[in-house]
Amino acid sequence: MKVLVIGGAGYVGSHTVRQLIRNGHEVWVYDNLSRGHRQSVREGTFVEGELADRQHLQQIFRQHEIEAVMHFAAFALVGESVAQPAMYYQNNVTATLELLEAMRAAGVWRIVFSSTTATYGQPKKIPIAETAPQLPINPYGFTKLVIEHALTDYAQAYGFGCAALRYFNAAGASPDGDIGEDHDPESHLIPLVLQTALGQRERIGIFGDDYPTEDGTCIRDYIHVDDLADAHLQALSFLEPGTNLQLNLGTGRGHSVKAVIEACRQVSGHPIPTTIEARRAGDPAELVADSTLAKKVLGWTPKYTDIDSIVQTAWRWHQLHPRGYAT
Ligand code: UDP
Repeated sequence: MKVLVIGGAGYVGSHTVRQLIRNGHEVWVYDNLSRGHRQSVREGTFVEGELADRQHLQQIFRQHEIEAVMHFAAFALVGESVAQPAMYYQNNVTATLELLEAMRAAGVWRIVFSSTTATYGQPKKIPIAETAPQLPINPYGFTKLVIEHALTDYAQAYGFGCAALRYFNAAGASPDGDIGEDHDPESHLIPLVLQTALGQRERIGIFGDDYPTEDGTCIRDYIHVDDLADAHLQALSFLEPGTNLQLNLGTGRGHSVKAVIEACRQVSGHPIPTTIEARRAGDPAELVADSTLAKKVLGWTPKYTDIDSIVQTAWRWHQLHPRGYAT
């Protein structure tokens, strides 16, 4: 298929671009490089552009006869969304609605959308199934939920074929170490811990050790970025006019912050000093996916099921690129 990958220079987007190309799709990467990296786009055709630029998108759709869109271009940090909600509503909602209208005008009806576990808020039951109430507790989660609803309505009224994929904690890197996670500033656990292993940071702060979990630290479901990419391809081939899918993507296994740090110690062979810090606002104690539906509907099964193998790929990326793409 001819696929436009919006936000294809970002972390999950760039890994998905690779898989699309390996599977014979023709790919255009559309990114404004505000958070993505030009260097992460090694294949496909790169187009610099804004998500909110409806005219530009329409022109690309028509010129290249694009058949499907994958939409990764979003701001995705909970704390930032609380401090700067306007930015989140503008980009994640308003600009995304421009994209949907550009698609409608050009007759492009397939879309795979990056959604998130943050749409669930504080879950009452673990593991979390798609049927759990969606009650987000921060602007980031709200913005993603708004678009999930818009897609449902576009599928029903306009025959869009939509899949909203609710990621748990994306982690790891391409196993050859060519592309990986590079945020500035970095705020995610595994890259921060591995930067500590490399001696770039003195220690890693653990945000709270008084949660009602076995070791007192938060539990998350870390899912390898290539497994997320696979799910996107499988979702793409599942889309028919009117398809309206929402699927959780996780391994179904939870790992505490302390367990992740220990895995990083084992894999890197380096000491990793820690300190205990205050809880981070808005962090639920435990988020683990029930991904039965993705397995049932798409036949999707994650290949990376243990935290060590996920960390190994991230460690390779960090060793090869100690300053990320600037290396
Ligand atoms: N975390 C931590 N110290 C850090 C960064 C993250 O203890 O410096 C914890 C965080 O509180 C959460 C888990 O690690 O429980 C994963 O956080 P991350 O920011 O990687 O992903 P998120 O869960 O926000 O998507």
